[in-house]
Amino acid sequence: MTTTQTLPFQAEVKELLGLMIHSLYSHKEIFLRELVSNASDALDKLRFEALTQPGLTSDDARLRIRLELDAERRTLSLVDNGIGMSRQEVVENLGVIARSGTRKFLEALRQRGANSPELIGQFGVGFYSSFMVAEEVVVETRRAGEQDKGGVRWSSRGDGEYTLEDVGPGPRGTRIELRLRPSETPGEASADEGDASSAPAQDFADADTLRELIRKYSDFVEWPIEMAASHFEGDGRLQRSKAEDGLEVVTLNSQRPLWMRPKDEIKSEEYAQFYKHLTHEWTDPLDTVHFKVEGASEYTALLFIPGERPFDLFEPQRDKSRVSLYVRRVFVMADCEQLLPPWLRFVRGVVDSSDLPLNVSREILQQNRALAQIHKRLVKKLLDALAQLLANRRDDYKRFWEAFGAVLKEGLVMEREQREALAALILAPTTRDGELATLDECIARLPAGQDKLYVLRCADVEAGRRSPHVEALVARGSEALLFTEPIDEWVLDHLTEYKGKRLVALDKAELEDAGEAAKFDREQRERELRNVLEGIETDLRSHVERVRVSTRLVDSPAVLVDDPSSVGPQMERMMRQTGRTPPKRKRVLELNPTHPLVERLRELGDAPADHERRREWSELLLGQALLAEGSPLPDPARFSKLVSALMLSAAK
Ligand code: ADP
Ligand code: MG
Repeated sequence: MTTTQTLPFQAEVKELLGLMIHSLYSHKEIFLRELVSNASDALDKLRFEALTQPGLTSDDARLRIRLELDAERRTLSLVDNGIGMSRQEVVENLGVIARSGTRKFLEALRQRGANSPELIGQFGVGFYSSFMVAEEVVVETRRAGEQDKGGVRWSSRGDGEYTLEDVGPGPRGTRIELRLRPSETPGEASADEGDASSAPAQDFADADTLRELIRKYSDFVEWPIEMAASHFEGDGRLQRSKAEDGLEVVTLNSQRPLWMRPKDEIKSEEYAQFYKHLTHEWTDPLDTVHFKVEGASEYTALLFIPGERPFDLFEPQRDKSRVSLYVRRVFVMADCEQLLPPWLRFVRGVVDSSDLPLNVSREILQQNRALAQIHKRLVKKLLDALAQLLANRRDDYKRFWEAFGAVLKEGLVMEREQREALAALILAPTTRDGELATLDECIARLPAGQDKLYVLRCADVEAGRRSPHVEALVARGSEALLFTEPIDEWVLDHLTEYKGKRLVALDKAELEDAGEAAKFDREQRERELRNVLEGIETDLRSHVERVRVSTRLVDSPAVLVDDPSSVGPQMERMMRQTGRTPPKRKRVLELNPTHPLVERLRELGDAPADHERRREWSELLLGQALLAEGSPLPDPARFSKLVSALMLSAAK
């Protein structure tokens, strides 16, 4: 007895189908991923149900997915021997939209206008996506355990209704036959396909195309995806085998989701190989982080810290996470930005979730709580791994720091929560020996009684070590950490304390901690030198805000520091580079009161010649201070004339 029934699709399905057929043309290829993933799910379900009902798999047939291609008739079928569907299940699954994910996707699509490829880009829309490439879809399915009683055939042209009819006994599982649209043939893309140019038409009736797509999207599916070997006649590289029904087949997928295997069974070469496959890099990763989380949220993460900096790390478009999202071993999207913050964008790898819907969009991901949890955990694991690397493999960590330290520092600026953990990962050269040290190492060797960490922003390590700013500090056996990168200005703005120690920037004006080095009373000196200070201040009015007595100098006569409210040198440079005019830097000239030159200045009188001399010396002091910090002189010709004159007068 056969009953044939024609039923309308639910209104939302109709809408989805319309959108899919007419708008998603640049992403057609994902239909294959969707159908494979459904077949894989069906095999998973069968395996699961067979645990309690062994009769379901009593035929002992190998569980597999097969692609059958009839290039002449232009039909492509996906056949699985999985769980199958009853008539009732077919109606429930293939006639309505049961999943809230699809409903949300539909809403987003409506809001954005149907034609928004960036929205549709990387994710799928389930079974219905087959209508993107097929003018008719026929599903024949028999529920496991009931295959001898018969099954059901579902068919539709995607135009608002579908037909159901009974079919006789047959093999267990589901066969989905697609009658491919003619326009899928290369060069025949019809005019109404709009931007077909942006996505070259693919021929889904071509065995090599299918093989490529399986490798791209479904390589790690656990079940074998087979295709008759006769399609690959000329290709000797492909491994052939005999299937149970006698057919010679090629297995298209490697079936090896490395991340699903237990960690202690995986060799480091296997990790390295997978890393190279994933990233197309040539060198081994520096470190591998592989872990599995079970419980409320289930996922596996396999992450790599590369050994080398990619050339485009600081390109503006390269600011997203490079971790791919899989859902139950099916590729969902590359570069999933919800998985990691931008300051971990150098990390590569895979996260495979068991909870997320496969048809998840980037927008839906944004609000996904489970994903926010994963994000948090990944960050924590990576920071732990880096701390381990620093503790146990210092040379490798140095390599890492040279390649990616500047990116990690972005996290210090952006993320309050991780600041301490990130600060612990900083490596900076110090004035002690120019070698890289951590903040903790500097704290461990602080001189008795010092409770601050001194830092200096400078052009390079040598300039920093020679800088007048650190003279007094070094003289009393202390050290300063040197920060030489553009981002350091922001880092030091945000990182003002570490483990209870204040970070004090030596190149900012307020340096209250003169310590034992201040063998004099600054206020008294300022009173004594009032005339000199005021005089120089007048002479240098267009260059500095203030002139005052310094407590940080030993040998140098003068030094320039920034007023605490001023923009810093890196910020200034950055603004210039981006074509903006930075606000004027507010600078303070500090004089060494014990320097003979300053003594001489004090001896100058009030005669016009004395005024002239003081002005020249002021300019010389300023010029020296600028040169010492590696800054350009405002008028180099005048400076060298003044120096020559000074030398002449000394020679007299
Ligand atoms: P999803 O896979 O996210 O549930 P789909 O639109 O891809 O959404 O599929 C809808 C439903 O149809 C599936 O949940 C499943 O119950 C059923 N289905 C699809 N393909 C198969 C198949 N090959 N075998 C058994 N059931 C299937
Ligand atoms: Mg699906």
